[in-house]
Amino acid sequence: MASVALCGLAACTGARPELLVGETIPPPTTIPAPAETTTTAPPLVAEAKAIISPTGVVLPVREVTDAGYVVTTPCAEEGFLVWGTPISEARVVLDPGHGGDESGAVGANDLAEKDLNLSVVKRTAAILTQRGISNVLTRTADYRVPLRVRSEIADRLQSDMLVSVHHNAPQLGNSDGPGTEIFVQSGNRDSRRLGGLIYEKTVEQLDQFDIQWVSARDAGVIEVRNSEGLDSYGMIRRPTVPAVLLELGYLANPAEAELFATPEYVEAAAIGLADGIETYLTFDFDGSGFRETPRIFNPKGGTGGILGCVDPALE
Ligand SMILES: [Zn+2]
Repeated sequence: MASVALCGLAACTGARPELLVGETIPPPTTIPAPAETTTTAPPLVAEAKAIISPTGVVLPVREVTDAGYVVTTPCAEEGFLVWGTPISEARVVLDPGHGGDESGAVGANDLAEKDLNLSVVKRTAAILTQRGISNVLTRTADYRVPLRVRSEIADRLQSDMLVSVHHNAPQLGNSDGPGTEIFVQSGNRDSRRLGGLIYEKTVEQLDQFDIQWVSARDAGVIEVRNSEGLDSYGMIRRPTVPAVLLELGYLANPAEAELFATPEYVEAAAIGLADGIETYLTFDFDGSGFRETPRIFNPKGGTGGILGCVDPALE
């Protein structure tokens, strides 16, 4: 049987007519010309919603034209790509917080939050892939990605969820268990359910480590709003798909920073995340840990904007 040609919008105009069942391909009557030495672009995928550039950068696709993909670059500029791995579907968008010159929290052991978030997210992605759950990352290496582009990746894909992974900074009081916090979209049942299930599964995993944890008094699954009543965090407010933001623990606590630097922690956090995500996609359970009283928080500026953003190489 002839191999199936992957035809994009403008490709395949010279394709061989389809063979009927039982027909065989006639032998060529002339000796084929040697393969061209110049490389040609692969066929375009019209359904692409995001694309992974040859350098591994994930970009939202704004439009597929006859010539290539019109994309949003990490720094929210318009870009154009001909090569890459197109993605037309991803159920899960995983977002490792911070990157590039925005390191996030830094532990007493110099562990940078941006690197830790990426390690946990990459391992979670690998586990989800093993379980047959399609996923994509908003950041795959150490570069800046403003919040609006992270959200755009999930919105273009219309994924089932966006999960933003962080580790917290303030010094807080001691606690018997992990001070994991999961911020959810106000009044959004899907976001709350997803947060509850990830909370349940990650805390279950982290509880196996016997260290001195710290915690806020209202730790759990919580809505965080500013004085105008809007969700305080951009990664919760911006996406149109169900979104949650996790603070898995406290890098500012030396005991936790030490634990977070171990492969055992990364594995446990990733299993907890993957279990929560898989349960959300498979069952209608609600999860646990939801706080009825929202927290009020007014962010002062902060990171995640486009000012001073420098795009990584895309090709
Ligand atoms: Zn963070």
